[in-house]
Amino acid sequence: YLDFKAIQRDPASLVENCRRRGASADPERVAALYGQFLELQQAADRVRAERNQNSAQMKAKLGAEERAALVAAGRRLKGELEGLQGRLVSLEAALQVEGQRLPNATHPASPVGGEGAERLLRSVGTPPAFAFPPRDHVELAARLDLVDFAAGSTVAGPKFYYLKHEAALLEQALVAHALRALVAAGFVPHATPDLVREHVFERCGFQPRAANTQVYSVEGAGLCLAGTAEIPLAGLHMDAVLEEDQLPLRLAGVGHCFRTEAGAAGAAGRGLYRVHQFTKVEAFVLCTPEQSEALHEELLELEVGLFAGLGLHFKVLDMPSGDLGAPAYRKYDVEAWMPGLGRYGEISSASNCTDYQARRLNIRYRPRLEEVGDLGTRRAQGTRFVHTLNATGCAVPRMLVAILENFQQEDGSVVIPPALRPFMMGLEVIRPRK
Ligand code: AMP
Repeated sequence: YLDFKAIQRDPASLVENCRRRGASADPERVAALYGQFLELQQAADRVRAERNQNSAQMKAKLGAEERAALVAAGRRLKGELEGLQGRLVSLEAALQVEGQRLPNATHPASPVGGEGAERLLRSVGTPPAFAFPPRDHVELAARLDLVDFAAGSTVAGPKFYYLKHEAALLEQALVAHALRALVAAGFVPHATPDLVREHVFERCGFQPRAANTQVYSVEGAGLCLAGTAEIPLAGLHMDAVLEEDQLPLRLAGVGHCFRTEAGAAGAAGRGLYRVHQFTKVEAFVLCTPEQSEALHEELLELEVGLFAGLGLHFKVLDMPSGDLGAPAYRKYDVEAWMPGLGRYGEISSASNCTDYQARRLNIRYRPRLEEVGDLGTRRAQGTRFVHTLNATGCAVPRMLVAILENFQQEDGSVVIPPALRPFMMGLEVIRPRK
């Protein structure tokens, strides 16, 4: 369902978009392949017409010689058509592979550039003032016996962990805190499958087989471990036609995320900051193209409310073209102050993917009005692709880092943010165990 006509109309602007996003896709090759595909299709149509004419002629009363000539021509045309059809199938496959690699368009307001080019949109709260040198979350967690990295490593491998004692309860509390806000805002809560078919990953715009993939595959099963609940939530409506009255559709998913973190060596990764498995609450929206920009702002406001509600200090960033990944048209990241690390760390991300995922997943809606004009869709006149958006409600390990490091006290205890206490049996402070 990619719009190859639009790609062919203006490959140069797509080349520029790829350059800005640092994407290795090749729009000119896609346009050329599509040109060849159309030519071949026309050639096949011509041969098919000739063959029909030939068959029609055979119905007449004919001499033996004439009939033999028509039979020979029929055989030749059949062979020609089969050859063309074979080439069309392989050309279409190449076209799809190359086409799927193209990234989304970029919002005109997104800063152009790579890391460091992000634009500060807002700063919320203030960093805590400590009268002592703050410890990092690894030391705090060790003193409070909250995380067992050694057992995680023995049982599953490095960068796996067990959350223990109050940390295990904090995970549940953080999930409940995020879900409560999302449900209050009209999101339908879902517990999502953690294993997803490989083609669903691909149709969401991710490439589980790419060289530097972040995706774990289950050998022989055609399944991958979800890197985010965005994938099962996006898959929920694939190949569906929704009614405009159903939109926007607000979904929330609680799932486990699995990431190989290939190529992330060297990136700040101590303790819980970058791990292979974590629990996350994800918000996902399907809407009309007219609604998506306002809903992107709504998702950001929800995130801001959640993190401010915990008492964190954070920055909201408009992410640059080079850091959008393939599906996002625009992305807002939130980075929280982490005093132990002595820097800001990303805790969430909200993306407007416009129709990028919807085209690949074939998620459409039927507009309320009959009169819809030229929709640019080839197969189902009258329906349009939805827009999809996703946002992190709470990615547990980074929230644990932020909470432990921001709310620590000189004696190594940690104050639990008041918003989480109702979900932690009223516990107010995590103290060292005797
Ligand atoms: P993403 O789905 O990549 O936008 O990630 C959503 C959020 O999950 C990020 O903002 C981080 O807070 C968190 N996150 C991403 N990767 C990891 C990881 N390997 N370990 C812990 N948290 C992560």
